[in-house]
Amino acid sequence: MTLTDIAPSVFETVESEVRSYCRAWPVVFEQARGSRLYDEHGRPYLDFFAGAGSLNYGHNNPVLKRALLDYLAGDGVTHGLDMSTTAKRDFLETFRSVVLEPRALPYKVMFPGPTGTNAVEAALKLARKVTGRETVVSFTNAFHGMSLGSLAATGNAAKRAGAGVPLPHVTRMPYDHYLDGRMPDFLWFERLLADPGSGLDRPAAVIVETVQGEGGINVARAEWLRGLADLCRRHDMLLIVDDVQMGCGRTGDFFSFEEAGITPDIVALSKSISGYGLPMALCLFRPELDQWQPGEHNGTFRGNNPAFVTATATLDTYWRDDTLRDRTLARAARVEGALGDLLGEDGRSAVSFRGRGLVWGLEFADGKQAAAVCRRAFELGLLLETSGPYDEVVKLLPPLTATDDELDEGLGILARSVRHAADGLAA
Ligand code: PMP
Repeated sequence: MTLTDIAPSVFETVESEVRSYCRAWPVVFEQARGSRLYDEHGRPYLDFFAGAGSLNYGHNNPVLKRALLDYLAGDGVTHGLDMSTTAKRDFLETFRSVVLEPRALPYKVMFPGPTGTNAVEAALKLARKVTGRETVVSFTNAFHGMSLGSLAATGNAAKRAGAGVPLPHVTRMPYDHYLDGRMPDFLWFERLLADPGSGLDRPAAVIVETVQGEGGINVARAEWLRGLADLCRRHDMLLIVDDVQMGCGRTGDFFSFEEAGITPDIVALSKSISGYGLPMALCLFRPELDQWQPGEHNGTFRGNNPAFVTATATLDTYWRDDTLRDRTLARAARVEGALGDLLGEDGRSAVSFRGRGLVWGLEFADGKQAAAVCRRAFELGLLLETSGPYDEVVKLLPPLTATDDELDEGLGILARSVRHAADGLAA
């Protein structure tokens, strides 16, 4: 029996062909706790995908669940458009005192719709509105979302093809390492900006991920990010950091740009901000940029109060001190060591690896090999996804709350899967 034979037919007959992750993991999941999902037959799977980065604190984290259950039991407002609620007040006060003030970040907080692409759309719209300019610069292999504005800033050809209309007003520049250091950083960018004949209209903004999650776990150097921030300042372009996937502690610090010591003008945040996997997104910006008219960027689901409750509990539990941050950074060294051993041992298939904090990518020569590793890992009870332009990078995104044993277990299964895939492909 193959895995496809056991795929439940209602998903195939009723659900659209657009479904994706369920194709890689053709079982029906029923429960989830901590770092594990359980299928309907009770088989556990160690989750090293963590809801694509929306479960940094694990599944059904008991502390957050308690806060949510208490709120629901007390008939707290579940839906409230963007009305003022006690849940929203608690969140804003906690976000200010736990996240913004200690980092001396002066940001205003906007609630766009509840997904990452909503936060990016709001960021792009605001940048264009404030500057009165149309062009935005994004980077090779960037991923910013699937709605038209954010898709225009996304690199992947297959994803862009789904738009069905032109995706204008975005110009691409090489991300860090894209040219393998053969050109000084930003030489091309600077040249185009300086030359009135270049054809590059002055951009409203530059949008960047500090680590490209979907693009193949490409890690920008802190020095490169500082260079970019400086370039933006000198040429009067707004700097937008899309921290949808790499924010909320994934790289160690709460914001992934802290390590570089830069302060973006606008930040898009989503995925793990609610802490519990509930939809929630924020667009943060310098107060001078808060030039919105009331209701100018609107939406029904901007006040997901249960998400505010779990977000507040998350900040209270994990971000009042540096414990989680320090643990994530210590674990980075552990994962780096394990991947180094694996690469040394198995040069036949894995090509290289890179990462920061608890996001790592193991690159293979092609997508076939990476897919074979993920397939074998799934058979052994580990959920892993691929990323990169050819899906050639196996991506590790364990919950930040995974125990040391779970981390070692996942890395062990990864090693077995790499060996197995290499043997299979060589045979
Ligand atoms: N930006 C980045 C960096 C992302 O990784 C993602 C999601 N993978 C998005 C934006 C879009 O988020 P969503 O899927 O919630 O719309």
